[in-house]
Amino acid sequence: MEHEGKQSESAVKVGRERIEKMSAEVVDSNPYSRLMALQRMGIVKEYEQVRQKSVAVVGKRIPFTCGAFGLNCISMNDMVFRFVGVGGVGSVTADMLTRCGIGKLLLFDYDKVELANMNRLFFTPDQAGLSKVEAAAKTLNFINPDVSITTHNYNITTVDNFDRFLDAIRTGGIAQDTPVDLVLSCVDNFEARMAINTACNELSLNWFESGVSENAVSGHIQFIRPGETACFACAPPLVVAENIDEKTLKREGVCAASLPTTMGIVAGMLVQNTLKYLLHFGTVSDYLGYNAMIDFFPRMSLKPNPTCDDRFCLERQKEYLAKPPSVVEAVAEPETEEPLHEDNLYGIELVEDDDTPVAASESKVQSNIVEGLKLAYDAPVVEENAPQVTTDDDVSLDQLMAQMSGMCKKE
Ligand SMILES: [Zn+2]
Repeated sequence: MEHEGKQSESAVKVGRERIEKMSAEVVDSNPYSRLMALQRMGIVKEYEQVRQKSVAVVGKRIPFTCGAFGLNCISMNDMVFRFVGVGGVGSVTADMLTRCGIGKLLLFDYDKVELANMNRLFFTPDQAGLSKVEAAAKTLNFINPDVSITTHNYNITTVDNFDRFLDAIRTGGIAQDTPVDLVLSCVDNFEARMAINTACNELSLNWFESGVSENAVSGHIQFIRPGETACFACAPPLVVAENIDEKTLKREGVCAASLPTTMGIVAGMLVQNTLKYLLHFGTVSDYLGYNAMIDFFPRMSLKPNPTCDDRFCLERQKEYLAKPPSVVEAVAEPETEEPLHEDNLYGIELVEDDDTPVAASESKVQSNIVEGLKLAYDAPVVEENAPQVTTDDDVSLDQLMAQMSGMCKKE
């Protein structure tokens, strides 16, 4: 186990010996036999590639003080209400990646384990008072000693720590002085998301944003590829409409709810798409929402905003547009494309499965997003002409919207 990049052979309880090479041998003593079977089943070409991947998991939650929490929400804006209590997603995400045999994990958090976290997965009561990254690293190292884990116990949103964070993900790859392969945001607040967004735009690193609502019955993941899809500053992030009258939600002194089920599902969506991206199978969702009330999973894509406030986002957009089409296509199309409308296998029509991207940021975006989704907060007023909504195929947006209306009943 490493701490802040330094190797330390601390007395960690080790459950098994390290394994040099993943084996597909089907014996009870092989921790990788079920994962390697993905190759035999034709899902993954080379599962062992997972050992060559490094992922940063950023978690942080506002201290569990309901009064303080209410104040935080008021001082930021409405979007904070939409995305709270995600601390539980990061630990489960790290757990899943560790069990999958990921090569390297960088854990970022500066919170402590509390008994109030015990409605969530992963942490245990005896860990109360320990820093989350230390407690997590011990457990993860015990589960799978083959995973290299570095812990980073600081708040990434302060100026000094932002530079440490930037440096850590820039050099956190498997090979020396290479960046991590992916950053996973499991944070619960606007500032931390913006810090991750800024860092990933600057370094041109792909990242997933994730969130769970304060009432614990909806969540989402969003895949942000700088220059190619809308970044966090391009447009207000999307959230799943919950069909709950927001006026009935308390604003002051509200204590956020959380369910281990919703967090487990969102963490599952996050890691599933992480594995698909890293190991090149299936289709990686640009945006995948979850509404627990009606078991609704909307999907869609958002193009970047050509007038984004983040200068690195604009640079990445230029780079992306300058790429030859073949490169762009190779990145956009996974090797094994799923059949469109596979969901109709059971005759169920709930989600428009078309990945037609919608340009971000225009004031019209609210009316152009997939039914069942809405923006986390009102878009700032844009003075310039709204960019055109684009579609990749022959279907006009109007036709598309007409098709979608009625496809997913809200209740
Ligand atoms: Zn942007």
